[in-house]
Amino acid sequence: MYNHELTLIEMKCDVFDLFSSKVDELSMEEMLHECKKMFMSHFEIKNADILLYDNNRFIPLIEGEVLDEESKSTSGIRSSKDQPIVNIMLLAHTGDINEDSLIIRDNRLNPLAALIFTATDKWHAFAESPYLKDIKKVLGTFVGQVVKVHQLSANESMYRRLFEVTEHFNSTMDSDVIIEEMMRTVLKSFSGYEVQLLLSQGYKDETKGYRLFDYMNERASAVDAFLSGDLTIEKNAEDLNGTLMNAPIGGRQGTYGVLQIVAFKGTNFTSTQKNFVKLITNVAGSALENANLYEQSSRLVSDLQLVDETSRELNSNLDIECMYGYLNEQFMKSFSPDEIAFVTLKGEAADSIEFASHTPLFEKEKGKKMVESIFDRLKEGEDSIFDVNSKSADGISDFTSLVALPITNNENMIGFVILLHKDDSFSFDNFKLLRSLIGHSSLAISNVMLRDQLQDLVNKDNLTKLYTRTYFDQYVATRIENEESGIFFLMDIDDFKLVNDTFGHYIGDIVLQQIASFIISKVDGIGFASRWGGEEIAIFLPDATFDNGVEFAESLVKEIPAITEPSVTVSIGMGDWQANEGASFNELFQSIDKALYHAKGNGKNQFIIHGVASAN
Ligand code: GH3
Ligand code: MG
Ligand code: MG
Repeated sequence: MYNHELTLIEMKCDVFDLFSSKVDELSMEEMLHECKKMFMSHFEIKNADILLYDNNRFIPLIEGEVLDEESKSTSGIRSSKDQPIVNIMLLAHTGDINEDSLIIRDNRLNPLAALIFTATDKWHAFAESPYLKDIKKVLGTFVGQVVKVHQLSANESMYRRLFEVTEHFNSTMDSDVIIEEMMRTVLKSFSGYEVQLLLSQGYKDETKGYRLFDYMNERASAVDAFLSGDLTIEKNAEDLNGTLMNAPIGGRQGTYGVLQIVAFKGTNFTSTQKNFVKLITNVAGSALENANLYEQSSRLVSDLQLVDETSRELNSNLDIECMYGYLNEQFMKSFSPDEIAFVTLKGEAADSIEFASHTPLFEKEKGKKMVESIFDRLKEGEDSIFDVNSKSADGISDFTSLVALPITNNENMIGFVILLHKDDSFSFDNFKLLRSLIGHSSLAISNVMLRDQLQDLVNKDNLTKLYTRTYFDQYVATRIENEESGIFFLMDIDDFKLVNDTFGHYIGDIVLQQIASFIISKVDGIGFASRWGGEEIAIFLPDATFDNGVEFAESLVKEIPAITEPSVTVSIGMGDWQANEGASFNELFQSIDKALYHAKGNGKNQFIIHGVASAN
């Protein structure tokens, strides 16, 4: 005969002894094994196994194997897919005992663990006794407490990790580090689960196991989490063969992505798991937001410095050429465009264009066409052009982005700038910076242009746009101080009185303008021309040789009758000036005047070189 009461009391003492003496020392698995051994010895059982209940399954605990921290889930129970899992669910729900097993339950009758064993006579007898319910209670209390203690410590280590990672988040402003740390911590706590990160914008290193959030094609539950900012659970998703958790990674100003965790079929996420994920994604979201704001503000500061530096430089009395040169340099440095052009508008109506500075593309027909079409668009009222990723057919097919901004003065366009990129397209932030730079440069540019225009009004003759005689005198005086030699010409229109008398003064003026603009274009870059008297023009070619001078005078005599309407001829006196000959400017001009006089006396429509009797 067995004394069931004694067996119960002994068993009770043993497990409570075990609990009070070993709970801090042994792992959950070891505690359960010890309990199993006691059960075996009290009921003379030879073979037994203990299984732990987790998420609708019983997981066998292999003797001697202690689950390490790394391979535990947040619920504290290893749930790797590779583990052999004994599914005795049916058993758990249909009855407490059969021949060889005992389900251990908590006081609300939820299963906690199961003992599977080869029953003995002692056990059979005991199971028949009224003490069965007591032993079940003892085992239930013991296992329940062991699991609870274990979960507490698992939770503690999980929250310690969370705390550590939060500390780290707060000490970095690098979004890549934040993403990496978050993923590391989540993977640690969810080993054996499928974890995926979807981010709404690309971070520096896209190989780090995340992909861009694709608004159009993500699962509805992911989009829902992203938009609502709340954690969503998609139960038993057929295609995933499990349950999907979507945790939005959000800060105060927005959501930056979604963290997805898949629990395999038949399992659910515990509230501890959900809370953990909520916490870490919130903390990471705020940290990401801070890092983004930090990156933005440091970019803003450097942008402001650039704008400030640029406008200071532009306002430091540069001439227009240096200004465009400087802007070109700054834009190349800040935006690294593949092609760039600064265009200024010319003419009374600002309707013709001229390059102030440009890269080689704009020498070509293709580039020129592009400038024309941009000019048309800006003229028609577009206040800026920002074509990104638009490989259009109008000649910019090689470029991923085209940006053009007008340079304005009092809302009137005085020029524009074009930037083209081939590979990386121009970001909107860059566009804003460029607009700000242009805005701050426009005033300086138009001031200098105005200054140049005023200077021209003073220095140039209004009718012919030739330099005034005063300016010519000053210019020549400084030039001949530095030059070794040069050629001077004095030109007078033949029988101009007759033109006036025949066609009127108005037509006479037009003829004078025709000749003046012809000469301006001829001396462009090589010399200098001024209105010397009524219809007399003085020209200085500083670097010309004597032969150059002869050629130049010949071409004027020959070409002017062709470009004037009504056709007129001219007479020219030419003088070659040598610094070492010591003749003063006045003396030289007197002799050139004399040469001109000879040309007139010699039948007009010719040039004469001073000191040489006749040249034509
Ligand atoms: P020559 O071949 O000897 O030079 O004969 P000319 O008729 O050209 O004589 P001259 O050079 O002495 O005459 C200058 C004339 O040019 C006088 C004046 O009526 C005219 N003239 C001077 N300035 C202007 C001007 O700004 N506009 C017009 N329409 N005529 C001018
Ligand atoms: Mg004349
Ligand atoms: Mg004259």
